[in-house]
Amino acid sequence: MDYLRLRGIGVSPGIVMGPVVLADRTLFSSRKIYVPPYRVADEIERLNEALRRTRDEITIIKDQVRAMAGDEHAFIFEAHLLILQDPALTSGLERLIREENIRTESALSEVHEYYRRVFDAIADEYIRQRKADVTDVLTRIYRNLDAGEKLSVSDDLRGKILVAHDLLPSEAAIRLSQGGVLAVVLDMGGPTSHAAILARSLDIPTVVGLRDITQQVTAGDELIVDGTDGEVIVNPPQMIRREFQSKKAKYEAYRKELRRIATWTPVTLDGVRFVPMANIELPEEVGHALSYGAEGVGLFRSEFIYLQRATLPTEEEHFAIYDRLARDVFPRPVYIRTIDIGGEKTLPQLKIEAEPNPALGLRAIRFSLQNRELFRVQIRAILRASVRKNVRVIIPMITEMEEIGEIRVLFREAREELSAQGLGFDPSVPLGIMIEVPAAAAIADLLAREVDFFSIGTNDLLQYFLAVDRSNEYVSYLYKPLHPAALRLLKHVIVSADRLGKDVALCGEMAADPLAAVVLLGLGLRTFSMNPIFIPRIKKALRAVEVRVVRRVVQKAMNLRSAQEVEEFIIEKLLFKYPDAFLMTSPSS
Ligand code: PEP
Ligand code: MG
Repeated sequence: MDYLRLRGIGVSPGIVMGPVVLADRTLFSSRKIYVPPYRVADEIERLNEALRRTRDEITIIKDQVRAMAGDEHAFIFEAHLLILQDPALTSGLERLIREENIRTESALSEVHEYYRRVFDAIADEYIRQRKADVTDVLTRIYRNLDAGEKLSVSDDLRGKILVAHDLLPSEAAIRLSQGGVLAVVLDMGGPTSHAAILARSLDIPTVVGLRDITQQVTAGDELIVDGTDGEVIVNPPQMIRREFQSKKAKYEAYRKELRRIATWTPVTLDGVRFVPMANIELPEEVGHALSYGAEGVGLFRSEFIYLQRATLPTEEEHFAIYDRLARDVFPRPVYIRTIDIGGEKTLPQLKIEAEPNPALGLRAIRFSLQNRELFRVQIRAILRASVRKNVRVIIPMITEMEEIGEIRVLFREAREELSAQGLGFDPSVPLGIMIEVPAAAAIADLLAREVDFFSIGTNDLLQYFLAVDRSNEYVSYLYKPLHPAALRLLKHVIVSADRLGKDVALCGEMAADPLAAVVLLGLGLRTFSMNPIFIPRIKKALRAVEVRVVRRVVQKAMNLRSAQEVEEFIIEKLLFKYPDAFLMTSPSS
C-alpha cells in the first residue's frame, strides 16, 4: 500500500499510532445559492431551527466544559450565547435571506465575509474584539443547518487521532478536554496556538502546520504521529510500523526515567536543598508540572490569558484562572507574573501601535502603567486569588525605582477597594520583580530593599546586557550565558538578595541547561524555574555535585576571560569528579 510521510511542526511531544477521525471543515463560500421566493419561508425556518440547536448545543457545551475544564474555559461560551442572542446578527441573517432570496448558508457566508472585511478596518474596540467569537458562532450555526455527519461534543474521540484544518479555541477546549484523544494533527497552527498549548498541557502528541493533511487522509486511515519530530506517516507499511514500535518504546522508557527522577529529593551531594519550579502558561499544565517534580509554579506567564482569546478578559475571568491555579498548586507557591505584552507581543484585543524598536519599547510593566484600567483589573483578580496565601506577584521589566512606588500605590488602592467590597485577599501577598533589564540588575542591592523577592529573567536580561538578539542568526553566536560579564552581573543580583534575606529565583532558559544550572548553584542560586519537562535533568545534574566544590570552581571561573574559557574550566574541574551531572538521558539514547 502507498504511504505518505508528511512534515509539520511538532508542538507536543510523544509518538502514537491510531485511526483518523476527521473534523468537519466548514467552508464559507462566496458563491451565492438562490432559492425561489416560495422557499424563503422554509429557509427562515431552517435558520431558526439552526439557531435553536446552536443555542441548546452551546448551553450544553458550556456546562460540560465548566465541569471538565473549569470556569475560565466555560466563559467563551457565555460570550457565544450573547452573540447568538444579538438581534443585529440574527435579524441581519433573516433580512439577507428575505431580500436576496438566498439559502441560509449563503447568508451566513455573506455575514462572515462582511465581518472579515470590516473587522480589521473598524476602530471600534468592542467589535474588533469579537472577530474570532463571531466566526466561531457562525461556524456552529452553519454546521447546525443540517443534522448531517459532523463531530459534536458527544462524539467519542477516544483512541483516535483528530485530524482537522484548524481548531477554534472553543473546539480545542471541548474536544481535547474530553480526554482520550490519541493525537492531534492540523493543517494550520503554530506552536503558540491555543490548540498547541492545550495539547501540550494535556500531554497529547500534536503536529501542526501540515498545510493540507485534511485533503490527504480519509476517516479510518491509520496514522503514526510523532509530535517530538513533527512527522506524520499515513498508512505506514509493516517495516515502518516496526520502526515506530521501537522508537515509541525508547520514548516511553525515556519518559519513565524522567518521572522516576522527578520523585527524587532535590538536594545536592553535600546536602544542600534546592528548589525546582515550573514555568507555565496555562492552569491546565499544573498536574503535568507537578508530575515532573516541580515544587510550585515559579512563573505563570499571564499574557497567555490574552493570547488564547479574542476578547479582553474581565476581572472574573482573570480571577477564575488565578483561583484555579492557586487551588491546584496549593500548598505550594505560585508566582503570577503580571502581563508581559506590548512590543512584539501584539495582541488582537488591544490597539498596540507598531514600534520601531519593540524590544526597547512599551512592553510589560511599562504597558501596564500606561493602561491602568487593564492593570487594575488584573491586580484585583490576583489579590482575590491570594486567599490561600500561596500567591506571589512578579512584575516584569522593572527598570527603575519609581515604577515600584507606582505599583505599590495601585496595589494599596486595589486592597482598599476589595476591603470596602468585603472581598477577601492575603494582606501580605509578596511582591517581587523580574530582574531582566541590566539597569535593574546593577541596582539590585537597592531594589532588594524595596521588594520581597527577585526573579531573574535571563532570557531578556542577557539579550539586553550582551546586546544580542538571540533569534537573529547573524549575531546569535554572541549569546553566551557563561560570559564572565554575565556571571558577574548574576552574582551581584543573587548576593544582593541574599544579603537582605530576600528570595531569588531564576526563570530564564539558562536554568534548564545542566552546565549553566551547576554554575548558578555555585553563584548561590537555589531556586530554578523552567519548562517542567527539563526539571528531571536539572535535578539529576544538581544532585550529582557538591555546593562547596562548585562554589570554589565558579569563583575562579569568574576571573577568566571568555565564555569558552569558563565552559572549558568548569568541565575540566567538574566532569570527571561528577560525571553523573552531565550524562543526560535523552529521548533517543
Ligand atoms: C526571561 O526574560 O528570562 C523570562 C523568563 O521571561 P520571558 O521569557 O517570558 O520574557
Ligand atoms: Mg522576559
